[in-house]
Amino acid sequence: MSQDAKLRDLDDAGARLRAVLDGLPDSIYVVDETGTLVASHVTADHLPRVDVGDDLVRRIPDDRREAARAAIAEAFRTGEAIHQRFQRNGRHFAVSFSPHDEGYVTIIIRDVTEQEALQRQLVVTERMASLGTLAAGVAHEINNPLSYVMTNLAFAVGELERGGVDEEVLEALRDAVAGAGRVRDIVADLRILSRGTADVADPRPTDLGAVVSSAANIAKLELNRRALLDVEVGGLPPALAHEPQLVQVLLNLLVNAAQALPPGGPEAHRVRVCGGADGTHVWIDVEDDGPGIPPDVAERIFEPFYTTKPLGEGSGLGLSISRTIVERFGGELTLEAREVGACFRVRLRRAEAAAPSGRRKRISYVAPPPGASARVLVVDDEVGLGRALRRALREHDVEVVDDARLALPRILSGDFDFILCDLLMPHVTGMDIHDHLVVHAPGELARTVFMTGGAQTRDARAFLERATVPCLEKPLDTALLRAHLERALAKRAEVGSLFSG
Ligand code: ADP
Repeated sequence: MSQDAKLRDLDDAGARLRAVLDGLPDSIYVVDETGTLVASHVTADHLPRVDVGDDLVRRIPDDRREAARAAIAEAFRTGEAIHQRFQRNGRHFAVSFSPHDEGYVTIIIRDVTEQEALQRQLVVTERMASLGTLAAGVAHEINNPLSYVMTNLAFAVGELERGGVDEEVLEALRDAVAGAGRVRDIVADLRILSRGTADVADPRPTDLGAVVSSAANIAKLELNRRALLDVEVGGLPPALAHEPQLVQVLLNLLVNAAQALPPGGPEAHRVRVCGGADGTHVWIDVEDDGPGIPPDVAERIFEPFYTTKPLGEGSGLGLSISRTIVERFGGELTLEAREVGACFRVRLRRAEAAAPSGRRKRISYVAPPPGASARVLVVDDEVGLGRALRRALREHDVEVVDDARLALPRILSGDFDFILCDLLMPHVTGMDIHDHLVVHAPGELARTVFMTGGAQTRDARAFLERATVPCLEKPLDTALLRAHLERALAKRAEVGSLFSG
């Protein structure tokens, strides 16, 4: 081969190698044992451009220089690759120092910001999922006993009011009722959060008032020590969102507001949640009168991992995850300019249909015939709840079955006007009973109302999605329970008059 042809070949090989390198996102330096540059391919803006023959190590910024020098020496000494990580301008980098037999070290620097963000998000998602499972389980465990605490309290208050008892005893009981009501609200919020991690659904019409009050209830503990909370979101039209995830977003904003305020008692500061709407959008503002956010920090708050909080207090993920969630709904999360404090705005699309979210089934109220007494069957393995319901409905003839295996024969006997059946029970579930009645006794099914302390199993959730029968949430709302019962009685009366007329 002629000299010219050899040079051309080399040129071609060089061009091919350059093409390969240009396609690489990584920056690469090759240095000898003294740290002198032999070759380089630099893609990142902030990394030094160094001429071949110059000392690379001297051009590395102060805070990284000694670590890099030590890594090069270590790679030569051990013959093993050394790996390090560092941050620059808010980006995260992985760097490897790989030794070669020819007496060089190749330094490869890779931007791993997005990869790390994804990994961290995965960890958070997994943690939230296991927290969600835990929360759903705890909610179920609390709701069952709470159900009879509340039913019994309501019964006792009613009895004492009628009997003209000492006002102080009544007051104590009413306080207990209010306290139990708060426990119920907290458990309901826990369940919203736990559901939030389970399903990623399309945005649907969502009642913003309910979302704000759930988030505020959960954030109260954090807020109470530092600020008064004003909530003024009544009358906002429904927006397109996913309720549990929107609760998560607002909770985040509220906790951030609380954490920005110095502890100084609830009177010291004010956090305000307000909102507004125009023809196409509806928004919620979370405002605080804390120190606000300086411009250099404001530029970066939506970046994943950006936090000004001490280690262990902030992950820097709250605002970035919140923004992702809101954008998934087709909305925006922005920091609004304010003279004092900080204001975050969640702007969402208005839902066309004015139906609030939630799958609560409405029942129509039909007046029962006066003085009618019903034969009621309660199926629940929670013995205390059975007793409480017997007391609460004592003008009726209530039979309680606490072993679900005995329930079906009783239901099929046709002895009852109204059947109240728990969903999650050992041996035989409410779902099993439902499925049997659909096929074999639809008439009895029409008299049956199910109840749940939190559908934390997949089967129970699927059942609630497909079921067309009413299902009451524990703790039971006694008024709603009576409404269902009275409707069953009214139906019985209708059928009776058909036959007698
Ligand atoms: P984290 O709360 O874990 O730090 P975020 O993404 O939620 O993560 O918040 C990022 C940063 O934004 C916070 O560290 C803080 O500096 C700033 N920030 C957020 N909300 C406020 C607020 N209401 N007032 C002042 N600074 C805030």
